[in-house]
Amino acid sequence: MTEEAEGAEEAKGAEEIAVRVADGYFPVETLGPGRRLALWFQGCALACPGCMSRHTWDPAGGRDATVGELLRLWATALERGAEGLTVSGGEPLAQPVALAALLRGAGLLRERAGGTADLLVYTGHEPDEVPGKVWEALAGADAVVTGRFRVAEPTDLVWRGSANQRLVPRTPLGARRYGPHLARAYPPGPRVSLRADGTGTRVYGVPARGELRRLERHLATSGLRLTNPSWRP
Ligand code: SF4
Repeated sequence: MTEEAEGAEEAKGAEEIAVRVADGYFPVETLGPGRRLALWFQGCALACPGCMSRHTWDPAGGRDATVGELLRLWATALERGAEGLTVSGGEPLAQPVALAALLRGAGLLRERAGGTADLLVYTGHEPDEVPGKVWEALAGADAVVTGRFRVAEPTDLVWRGSANQRLVPRTPLGARRYGPHLARAYPPGPRVSLRADGTGTRVYGVPARGELRRLERHLATSGLRLTNPSWRP
């Protein structure tokens, strides 16, 4: 079988793989370099105190999707100039088969589009905490951010929520894109962006300590009161 035919077979298989997701949006500019498609997997058992995304914890929450559907979002984002894909959650490694297929398919589509967009995955795990087979699901990622969010250990380093979390490039593309940012601190100002539509208000990014409280207060002064924010127990 030619490489192209193998790729087509693989894409057909990935098409049907089920995945539970919380959200997906393009463009997001606060979760990695450039304008990115962000996909949030549903389900996380790690329950970090202070997590801003408690709505993603319940594995039965969110909605059903397929890897094929997510790859179509990625293809569209690439056509619109996406510079990267960020997979977050929830815990992406809780759905390793879907994650591996997504990254493989996203890598193929990226090559067809010119090969410059990177694939970044956030996981709350460290490499030695999960079976090797599960960790292998990250094989297609150009960079990963690893480790729990620890509310008592704030950091100024870009795209990391707490000082224990590590940003690790895994490919030459990842090294090129993330190497210059490994020790870079956020500039002063907001670290998150807001999106409001008919279904609610969403906060995208990695907030500084206290930023979400300040955001709530600021919105309240403008007459917008958030109900059931995802960072409240
Ligand atoms: S911060 Fe991430 S790893 Fe921790 S509970 Fe929230 S979604 Fe899970």
